[in-house]
Amino acid sequence: MSLLVQKYGGTSVGDPARIRAVAERVLASRADGNTVVVVVSAMGGATDALLALSRTLSGTPDQRELDVLLSTGEQTSAAALALALRDMGVPARSFTGRDAGIVTDGVHGRARIVDVVPASLGKSLDAGVVPVVTGFQGAAGQTQELTTLGRGGSDTTAVAIAAALRATACEIYTDVEGVFTADPRHVPAARKITHLSYEEMAEMAASGAKVLAHSSVEYASSHRVPVHVRSSVGTGEGTWVSCQRDDGTLGALADRFMVTGLAHQVGQLRCRLRGVGPAALATVFATLAETALPLDMVSYRTGDESVADPSLMFTVQAADQHDVVEALGELQRLGGFAGCEWSGPVGKVSLVGRGLSTHPAAVSRALDVLREQGIVLEDMAVYARRVSVTCREEDVVAAVSQLHEAFVAQPEATRRQVIAVGPHAPRPITSAVR
Ligand code: ADP
Ligand code: ASP
Ligand code: MG
Repeated sequence: MSLLVQKYGGTSVGDPARIRAVAERVLASRADGNTVVVVVSAMGGATDALLALSRTLSGTPDQRELDVLLSTGEQTSAAALALALRDMGVPARSFTGRDAGIVTDGVHGRARIVDVVPASLGKSLDAGVVPVVTGFQGAAGQTQELTTLGRGGSDTTAVAIAAALRATACEIYTDVEGVFTADPRHVPAARKITHLSYEEMAEMAASGAKVLAHSSVEYASSHRVPVHVRSSVGTGEGTWVSCQRDDGTLGALADRFMVTGLAHQVGQLRCRLRGVGPAALATVFATLAETALPLDMVSYRTGDESVADPSLMFTVQAADQHDVVEALGELQRLGGFAGCEWSGPVGKVSLVGRGLSTHPAAVSRALDVLREQGIVLEDMAVYARRVSVTCREEDVVAAVSQLHEAFVAQPEATRRQVIAVGPHAPRPITSAVR
């Protein structure tokens, strides 16, 4: 008999018929001999509607009250699913994050789970009652204040509960059949991936593949929780995210250069902090760290004869701009840096894989593909597991589709080109060497 934590996303609990369908799935899973703990998101669109409500009432909503407001979305769906299960004769009880023992740090809006005390869930399971837990929320360990975990945070709740209960697996039921080589809503040629390592999935998630929240992958990786991403409609296998990776087609050379897939984001802003002297840099980072915001494409340049103004650059999601400005305001007033410049919204496209920084030919090929499409790049960053570029938002889908075509749909030709000029290729003997 398996203990499964099943998380159902917003679309999967989007209306009464879907809530009933979820209840039937839980019933069937129990009938197969499994013990089930359910985690639910807010009904599709509910969190956005609550956010919109808060904005109509306050330009700068109080973070505590905002968390209390947003948490009601998940409470609605948990109680609704418990009602549906009970109506089918399945004993069930809804649990808030606090009831379920989800302990977080105190960062409102972006809290991290620091512990799970699963005693009340255990009691419920012992009594044969299905716990239906609200995703996306917990209680701060020190203050007991309600906190939310950031967008997509129900995935993290599910993984954390699976880790605490030592579940066989954490099943993430969603509106696609698994993790694809690119967002299947924008790239019809994308294919489902059977197995992904935690590292590969973490890079995809951090780059915008929102099918799994990045924090959930990090949690799963550090607690070794096998995660199965699958459709809440079909019955087929989805994608397993675990220690194993999908390397059926890889040989020794390809082991060093491999493309997992493409990810994209829109609504990114580039921030340039001007006049950040080397002495102030650590303080700037310490201040940004307090916001717990994910910064990306971070680069720093000290002033020299050609660049008088030392600058720190990074990208953030547009929704986080206000938090950055607020966090840095005091430091700027104290002279920590000279000023802050923001770009308009840009798109970001990331080629995710491995061996990318050691194979500049892959970067060269990617740049050729984008240039052939007439896509103008704004910034580029090369990491070991990712190459990211920013461009106009309206170019993002074309960019991701063309890169997918070159690197995933027809990977062999590209890989041969890349490996042929890569650092591990046999080097021709030059006259200088002779
Ligand atoms: P849920 O409400 O179930 O949590 P999300 O909307 O958070 O669902 O995540 C599922 C969505 O993630 C899909 O509808 C899809 O558009 C998007 N997505 C982005 N990248 C990928 C990818 N690589 N594979 C699968 N889905 C992806
Ligand atoms: N309801 C929250 C959101 O929309 C959390 C989640 O769905 O995982 O982001
Ligand atoms: Mg989600």
